[in-house]
Amino acid sequence: EAKRNGGGQTSCYQVGMKEAVAERHSLESDMRIAMGRREFHLAYQPVMTLCDDRIIGYEALIRWDHPVRGLVPPASFIPVAEQSDQILAIGRWVLEEACREAATWIDDRHVAVNVSSVQLRSPRLLEHLISALTTSGLPADRLEIEVTETALIESGEKVSEILTAIRTLGVKVAMDDFGTGYSSLSHLRQLPFDRIKIDRSFVANAMTDQSSMAVLKGVIQIGRDLGVSTLAEGVETKGQLDLLRSLGCDVIQGYLIGKPTRIARQAMAAA
Ligand code: C2E
Ligand code: MG
Ligand code: MG
Ligand code: MG
Repeated sequence: EAKRNGGGQTSCYQVGMKEAVAERHSLESDMRIAMGRREFHLAYQPVMTLCDDRIIGYEALIRWDHPVRGLVPPASFIPVAEQSDQILAIGRWVLEEACREAATWIDDRHVAVNVSSVQLRSPRLLEHLISALTTSGLPADRLEIEVTETALIESGEKVSEILTAIRTLGVKVAMDDFGTGYSSLSHLRQLPFDRIKIDRSFVANAMTDQSSMAVLKGVIQIGRDLGVSTLAEGVETKGQLDLLRSLGCDVIQGYLIGKPTRIARQAMAAA
């Protein structure tokens, strides 16, 4: 009720806005010193094949352990980092750290690293990828970058060229959170990538919602037709695993197989 408050007084709405802006600035300035204080680390979540139940890799997920705030979830600080350019420094650190760690893994397991649309638009991404690979000694084909469907659309026309350059290095490209953006299925044909990660909302709703089931089936079928690997995110139950196996999904990730942990661990056999 800003109007009735009259001149001079501040409405609840304005106070709320001010608090949100202040909180943002405070997160932003905390983030600037977080790297030097080693407050970031990576957690690794296993990815398992459905044809032979093998762990073929891990997704690296950033964690921020703040001395006062505690664990700050990436969903609350990554968007702030993206709007202040800090994502470039943070993203570079994630790449270096993930490659260094993955170089020690057995059985040629890959590491999947989330790359923001800001990084994708940066002319230095290629250089950062090469540097992370060279420094760690990790073979390029054991690094996979994850780009969200939305980031691919936002990044515009040049994105195909960028992805092609990345793939020319031997690095794999996955489309993350597929189904949550506004891309059409024809984008799947046009963009060069190696894996589709189907958003966990479709997995969660498939049993009870026919349209989620239809999308799940459709994307897995398209993946097969295009020769692109399909990964279902957020698998939490044996029922979901059985369904995905029967639909012909290639690989899965989710709490059923393993939660993200600080040390990449062989997951428990879930099937
Ligand atoms: P994402 O890349 O789609 O990662 C999957 C998220 O789902 C992770 O959340 C993971 O912990 C969670 N998850 C995995 N399995 C399950 C499950 O079975 N059930 C449920 N309920 N959740 C599950 P997290 O770690 O909080 O990360 C959230 C998002 O933050 C990521 O979504 C990604 O978009 C972003 N993010 C995380 N690390 C980085 C990073 O290093 N760089 C960038 N740019 N973004 C990152
Ligand atoms: Mg991801
Ligand atoms: Mg995802
Ligand atoms: Mg997600």
